[in-house]
Amino acid sequence: MKRMVLGRTGLEVCRLGLGGIPLQRVSEAQAVETVRHAVEQGVDFIDTSRAYSTSERRIGLALAQTDKRVVVASKAQAKTAEKAWADLHTSLAELQRDYIDIYKCHFVADEAIYQKVISSGGAYEAYQRAKNEKLIGHIGITSHNLDVLDRALDDDLFDVIMVCFSFLEPKAREEIIPKALEKNVGVIAMKPFSGGVIEEATLALKFALSEPGILVIPGVGRSDLFDQNWKVFLDAEPLTDSESARIAELRNSFDKVFCRRCDYCQPCSEDISIQTILGIRSSVKRMGRSQLEESFLWKAVEKARNCSRCGDCMTRCPYGLPIPDLIEESLAWLDEDE
Ligand code: SF4
Ligand code: SF4
Repeated sequence: MKRMVLGRTGLEVCRLGLGGIPLQRVSEAQAVETVRHAVEQGVDFIDTSRAYSTSERRIGLALAQTDKRVVVASKAQAKTAEKAWADLHTSLAELQRDYIDIYKCHFVADEAIYQKVISSGGAYEAYQRAKNEKLIGHIGITSHNLDVLDRALDDDLFDVIMVCFSFLEPKAREEIIPKALEKNVGVIAMKPFSGGVIEEATLALKFALSEPGILVIPGVGRSDLFDQNWKVFLDAEPLTDSESARIAELRNSFDKVFCRRCDYCQPCSEDISIQTILGIRSSVKRMGRSQLEESFLWKAVEKARNCSRCGDCMTRCPYGLPIPDLIEESLAWLDEDE
């Protein structure tokens, strides 16, 4: 139960991996120490991305200091083959490796992007070439949109999918996770704390780990936080009745405020990335405000100030979120936090 084979990749790993987002938020020394500590304890799967600023480099520095075998996965948001090839080579250099076990098409938000990625001249082509040249072992895809992952499973082009899975976002276990496991596609469950929205980490992790056959990768930047997760993993206690009741209570309280990042509300006439803005508080928590201000996310914040409150997005949100109000609250929070 503590180890698993990640689908058709054949890679055997510990069911609790390490997510690389928060490693960019702490000092370099602390990030390196956290990765080394996790690997010493027994973690042998680490996930990162070109999009996580210093994360790849810090993981590379840490892994250069250990002889332990660690499966490394990274990803890039490139859509074209040319950009994907360049990004992959940057990842290889930053991670100090000549081979990356799994490289994924990152944040494939919708069907149009998916088609671009898999078509001739798209990113997938570059990763196939990289696989043939033994620069990577397997190709994966990440998306917050379950329809995209469903399509990817039908097309059968990917060895691994990465999907949001938490007690606030449990939908993947209805169809996507069983379908992937049936096709022997590896499943990496990201965001077990829903991107920092769930503060009761033990509860969140117990829930995610209770789903069989999936690899769970909570992101942490500090060793003490890693230890808390590791203890939950080692204890492997099932959810108690009172914990299940608490989960139901939290689900209820977040129901009309938590954005599931599915993008069904798009397109917005003002070109606002709604899910980015509704998740901006957790992005600040995970990345730190200064990194956020330097990233592409800040442009999304500026665009969000143009929300006309037309309400079109609300007619498309399957969760009935009061989107213009939530945008206003997020912007007010950011302005107050300055
Ligand atoms: S209410 Fe705001 S976010 Fe929603 S579609 Fe209109 S402009 Fe876009
Ligand atoms: S606002 Fe609603 S439709 Fe838009 S991404 Fe969030 S949950 Fe999905």
